[in-house]
Amino acid sequence: MPTLTIRNPATGAIVAEPAADDAASVAAKAQAARTAQPAWAATPLGERLATIERFRAALVAELETLAATLTSEVGKPITQSRNELNGLLPRIDFFLAQTESAIADEPVFDDGGMRERIGHVPLGVVANISAWNYPYFVGCNVIVPALLTGNAVLYKPSEFATLTGGHIARLLHAAGVPRDVMQALVGGGDVGAALLNQRLDGLFFTGSHATGVRIAQALAPRLVKLQLELGGKDPTYVRADADPKAAAESLADGAMYNTGQSCCSVERIYVHESLHDAFVERFVATVKGFKVGDPMDPATYIGAITRAPQIAVLDAQVADAVAKGATLLVGGHRLPGPGNWYAPTVFTNVDHTMELMREESFGPMIGIQKVRGDDEAVALMNDTRYGLTAGVYTRDEAKARELLARVNAGSVYWNCCDRVSPRLPWSGVGDSGIGLTLSTHGIRTFTRPKAWHLRAP
Ligand code: NAD
Repeated sequence: MPTLTIRNPATGAIVAEPAADDAASVAAKAQAARTAQPAWAATPLGERLATIERFRAALVAELETLAATLTSEVGKPITQSRNELNGLLPRIDFFLAQTESAIADEPVFDDGGMRERIGHVPLGVVANISAWNYPYFVGCNVIVPALLTGNAVLYKPSEFATLTGGHIARLLHAAGVPRDVMQALVGGGDVGAALLNQRLDGLFFTGSHATGVRIAQALAPRLVKLQLELGGKDPTYVRADADPKAAAESLADGAMYNTGQSCCSVERIYVHESLHDAFVERFVATVKGFKVGDPMDPATYIGAITRAPQIAVLDAQVADAVAKGATLLVGGHRLPGPGNWYAPTVFTNVDHTMELMREESFGPMIGIQKVRGDDEAVALMNDTRYGLTAGVYTRDEAKARELLARVNAGSVYWNCCDRVSPRLPWSGVGDSGIGLTLSTHGIRTFTRPKAWHLRAP
């Protein structure tokens, strides 16, 4: 049996070496899920809701242990691990409150003889291949509504969030979800690839664009329903009428929270020339105030870089920006180990010839570019292959709405950033993917519509 070595990114120490799946065990789990799914779909919705309520209660009861495990395997500051778990609860509450109405039969026509209804039936067996940066969020965005709507779930957490994935499965089983209906797989990309070879009714992926494309290519001949939630290079524009200090503090958090390892981290900032210097001064002061260090210290704000290879990506973006004339104001280098560490990094005098302004940094790094006005800012915001989120800081709501209507992004923010709501759909444009989770759309996406044509005799 192969094993997976899990290291603490903050120390390099081995945290666990669990047995991993292989092609044969993946096939067996997929077959068991296929066999178990019809009975789960036939279970009254009230019982499925009750199991998820018990799962929620268990998350609350074990919150401290779960947060510590998450920090030990991804290097996330413990306060932010607790925040992630606490942030999961309203998402679960939303799914608990909305599933029944979202999947209720819809009578759409009745002329006395002929009736028409739209039903919503589970897809069947769905796979969830997931990322490590917010494993509770991205895992449960799929797992919870998929289970509530009657699907069986084959869940491949990231190899960097395996223990958290195991906890999610354990707590769901303890809450009453049958073991074969919810199965976690242990392993890396090879185990994910083995999952693609199984008979699936849906594949819900969160991760990088490169892997998403690979998965889409692998599944294309089999016409499996596919959702891909991928990366971003999310821009924000600070308008001439904004409060530069308030915007700087908000955006420093949006760029550096979770050590910059969020799909919706602020990754590009455009600031009107009239307040550029005041903005930058407060931005840098805010970043210098972020405590970097032991992720288990509740005061720590910047933790470890979860994946060691990302450090080379950050180094390359720094070298490229410096070579092309950017001004490095703070950071720009690795921090001493053990473990994977990078100094919070702020550049000004950047432009779109630089990788830093084009490709996901996925670390505590940001470029701030001066602009002369709204049209230039909108053009720059749209000069990207991605389109996950975008924001504008201004006192003028009408102007914000006008500008954000012109920006190609799945989510847009006025005077806020790095925000996800269970009530709103989470989706992307362009290379940010073809995913859709959260909101009532993100419940129905785990069902297919069934058309009922009913004629009375
Ligand atoms: P990744 O693509 O490296 O891995 C994601 C998952 O795919 C992992 O579970 C991995 O084991 C699996 N995988 C790798 N190769 C595979 C293959 N050939 N076949 C099947 N599965 C395979 O991404 P990551 O480093 O885990 O996540 C970071 C990325 O995720 C960033 O780009 C980030 O922006 C993105 N992300 C997006 C969202 C969103 O909602 N749009 C949310 C979180 C993260």
